[in-house]
Parts: sequence; C-alpha cells; structure tokens
Amino acid sequence: MYDLPKRLKGLEPYAPVMGEFPVRLDANESFLPTPDWLREEIVQAVRGLPFHRYPDPLCTALREKFAAFFGAKPELVTAGNGSDELIGLIVNSFLEPGETMAMVRPDFSMYSIYAKMAGVPTAVYEKAPGSLELDADGLIAFVKENNARLLMFSNPCNPTSQAAAMADMIKIVESLDCLVVADEAYMDFSEGSILELAEKYDNLIVLKTCSKIGMAGIRLGFAVANPTLTRVLQAVRSPYNVNSMTQAAGCVWFSHGEYIRECVEQIKISRDALCGKLKTLAEQKKGILQVLPSSANFVFLRMADAGGVFEALGKRGVAVRLMGEYLRITAGSETENQQLLTLLDELLR
Ligand SMILES: *Cc1c(COP(=O)(O)O)cnc(C)c1O
Repeated sequence: MYDLPKRLKGLEPYAPVMGEFPVRLDANESFLPTPDWLREEIVQAVRGLPFHRYPDPLCTALREKFAAFFGAKPELVTAGNGSDELIGLIVNSFLEPGETMAMVRPDFSMYSIYAKMAGVPTAVYEKAPGSLELDADGLIAFVKENNARLLMFSNPCNPTSQAAAMADMIKIVESLDCLVVADEAYMDFSEGSILELAEKYDNLIVLKTCSKIGMAGIRLGFAVANPTLTRVLQAVRSPYNVNSMTQAAGCVWFSHGEYIRECVEQIKISRDALCGKLKTLAEQKKGILQVLPSSANFVFLRMADAGGVFEALGKRGVAVRLMGEYLRITAGSETENQQLLTLLDELLR
C-alpha cells in the first residue's frame, strides 16, 4: 500500500475565497478592468504567435520590457509563472538538506507551504503585536540565533500592509550572510524598493509580480538578483516556464508604462480613501475596530468579531480575507468601497 510522505499528509490545497461574490475584495487584485484598447493590442500580439512552437525559453523581450519599466538590467531578471513559482524554486533550490529557512509572522502564507512541501525546517519570527511593524535588529538576531540560511519575507507585508524602511532592509541584507529574499509584491504602492540594489549584494533576491497592479490573470512574476544568483534561478526553473501568451501579453502591457503608473496611482487613491473612511468608522466604534495605516493595495483591520463580520459580509456578496482577529480588505472601486463601508457600519452597530 502506498503511503504518502509524512510532510504531505496534512497539506491542503490553497483555498481562495470561492463562490459568487459581486464584490471581490479578497485577493488583492487591481480593481481596474483591462481597457478595450489594451485588450485589443494583446489579442493582436497573441493572434500572431506560433502555437506549435515552444515559447522563448529566455523570455528575452519580456525581461527587457520589465527591466525598462522597473529600471533594472535585463540580464539580472528571471521571469516566472507568477512570483509564486519563483518562491517555490528558491525554497527548493537554495538550501542544503536540513538547513533552516527563516520567516516572519504574520506574512504571506505560501512561504511556509512551499517550505513544508520541500521538507525545509522553518524558524518563525513573530512581529510585535499591535503595531505589527518589523523590528530589523530583532529579526537579524533571530536569523543568526537560528542559523537560518534563507530569510524570506514580504515588504510591504501581506497581510499587515506595513512597509519596512529602506535603511532597515539594507541593514538586514548587509548584516546577514544568508540569502535574503525581499518579496516586493506590493512595493508599487509604497516606497523604499531595494530592487536597484540587487546587483550589489551577493545574498539578495528581490521578487516582483504583475498580479497586484493589473495583470493577475496572466500569471507573471520576476526575480531580480546578481549574476551568480540569476544563473542559478535560470538553471533551476523549468525550461519553458512562462508560456508564449503570457510573454506576449506581458510585453504589450509593459510597453505602456505610463498607463501602468496611472493605474497604480488610482489604486493608491482608492486605498487612501478606503483607509481614511475606515479610520473615521473606527473612531465611531472605539474599541471594536482598529485600522492599520497601509502601504499596500489593501487595508488590514482588527476587530472584536472578525469571523462574524467576515461571514456576514460574505452573505451580502462581499468577499474579504479573514485572518484570525483581522480582516484584510483589498481597495476596490469607489462603489465597491462604499458598499463595504455601508455594510461594515451596519454590522458593527
Ligand atoms: C500575491 C502575492 C504573491 C504572489 O504573486 P503571484 O505573482 O500572483 O504568484 C507573492 N507574494 C506576496 C506577498 C503576495 O501577496
């Protein structure tokens, strides 16, 4: 009889919020629909593809477009089927058997899932309750104490929406001799990216994704690192990991840098408006609702009955993410934000 490896027995498939929700504020996608002109350009690009051939294994054009948009060098860029693929690859490849990976909590849930799948032991640094800010010195000491060989965390952080100062990020990278993976999935909504420093350090990989700024559907993420690390990433990924339609769509999209920046601005405006209104609500509901300042495209709220409110919102067609005593709510369109606020106001009465 076949017996599953022990580490796989308790593993559950990723559970996104399922079902029909008219208002989706659960997955941190962009709320801006793809405009017709962009759709048309993508269709044109895809129409001409030689579908009987493999895609460009090196993603040459795509890496150039990405690099031009983010101000990186194309030769330091690795493309992936979402940054999720790259996270999995890094966890699987950069540790010797038995070596420890350090993470922080709360943080992106997939890090620990990939670690588990790979059989990688983990050490988890708990963030200060309340502020949920990252204490760089505390984290550095923790990684050293645990002799971790890989540290992975998101900045700005999903789900806390807090950003670490650039100086702290640099301090972390410089103080540690293990590999540091800075997941900048939400950096477009914040400041203090260390993307440009990736070339300078031999122990830094910066991850980016298109998913939060308008292109979640094409599954496209990137790693930026120095030539040695990039060579490894290029070697461990599967040869044709980014399909030709995604490469074509990504090239078209990145060609419109002005448009992308405009979308990011609109998302930030929505985030600020939502955050502001939630704070006003929190002042009226002292003690039941706490709203954290946000450096991402979502807002993190603490409330006495997060579970109950989550259920009630869902029943009324509004999907958000429940995380313990917190809700994580993606910034939506003005109408979506208003629907959410009206319901929250009612539910917390
Ligand atoms: C959404 C998210 C990702 C996943 O990005 P994909 O490119 O869609 O796989 C990675 N890291 C963090 C912190 C995220 O929130």
